[in-house]
Amino acid sequence: MEPVVEPVTVFDHPEFRGHEQVVFGHDAQSGLRTIIAIHDTRLGPAAGGCRMWAYASDAAALTDALRLSRGMTYKNALAGLDLGGGKAVIIADAKRDKTPTLLEAFGTQVERLAGRYCTAEDVGISSADMEIVARTTAHALGTEKTGLGDPSPYTALGVFEGIRAAVRHRFERDDLTGLTVSVQGLGNVGFGVARMLHAAGARLVVSDINADAVFRAVEAFGAQTVEPSRAHAVEADIFCPCALGAGLNAATIPQIRARIVAGAANNQLATDADGEALRRAGILYAPDYAINAGGIISIALAGPRDGDDLVREKTIAIGDTLTRIFRRADDEGRPTHVIADKLAEERLNAAG
Ligand code: NAD
Repeated sequence: MEPVVEPVTVFDHPEFRGHEQVVFGHDAQSGLRTIIAIHDTRLGPAAGGCRMWAYASDAAALTDALRLSRGMTYKNALAGLDLGGGKAVIIADAKRDKTPTLLEAFGTQVERLAGRYCTAEDVGISSADMEIVARTTAHALGTEKTGLGDPSPYTALGVFEGIRAAVRHRFERDDLTGLTVSVQGLGNVGFGVARMLHAAGARLVVSDINADAVFRAVEAFGAQTVEPSRAHAVEADIFCPCALGAGLNAATIPQIRARIVAGAANNQLATDADGEALRRAGILYAPDYAINAGGIISIALAGPRDGDDLVREKTIAIGDTLTRIFRRADDEGRPTHVIADKLAEERLNAAG
């Protein structure tokens, strides 16, 4: 008997939210299988990274493309960019299957959309890979021709400015001198944030599963250390998650001592209810997609000849956006992540 194959549905899919276009692309020669989801182009061409992942099924890949492309609509809108939301996924193992031919074939798929979707790097796709994608499409962002290179320093700058805005709001003070920050994850972004916090006079408690990174932070910043799994529970003023998502959940929130959570990690709230739990606990949460937008700002706004003045200006403005979110959340008695979504939706509705 033939095996029963569950059909992949799009319009009935639980993550389908009125996406404008969903393209399934295939290339026989390279073996490319890609899904490009364009969620919303009211503010401009859809922009968002391309993720290469060995998805367990086409359905799982579609779920990611639908969910992440919608996330980019909100992120780009809130960052004040004239860009819509989109995302591409390539169903392949980045270590085993990535070839120049496959990346070029992906670029061809992007090019066929004639600028309605602009791609960029994401999990499994490096900036070197993006240079190859750009051989076959003019719509690749963050390449040597179109961008400033590594977006992480701008993400770190935005997170630092976001922390300053949260401190102004929660502690009614401008400087960070003597405040204790628990930084979880000392990668490209976390280490940069730690460096800025140290320069601003903050005390650091650091954690990473990579002992080398921890050692470097201890040497460079005189930081104290904690087990990664206890980073959230440190007796600190601010918890700055810069590693993995879903770290704010029913188990961790009751243990958080900090009055502020502000960090770069994506998808920090395990569920929407956790945003409300943080509010009830009196913990000010900087919504992840608002505070970590420096990277997409740098990718979207600058070419190498433009310098980075505009990018820095827009990234520093993340602090103002967060202040608006914090004030309105207080006024309306609602969680900050709900207000962030509302601000983004208001901008989208005004455009459309
Ligand atoms: P990265 O891979 O350079 O760094 C992540 C660090 O976290 C690594 O040092 C890793 O060892 C550490 N880590 C992993 N698991 C951990 C754990 N359980 N506990 C403690 N540390 C752990 O990544 P990055 O570019 O610095 O990004 C950090 C986070 O910010 C990610 O969630 C990423 O999605 C998000 N983000 C990054 C950017 C950017 O521009 N790079 C932009 C937006 C969002």
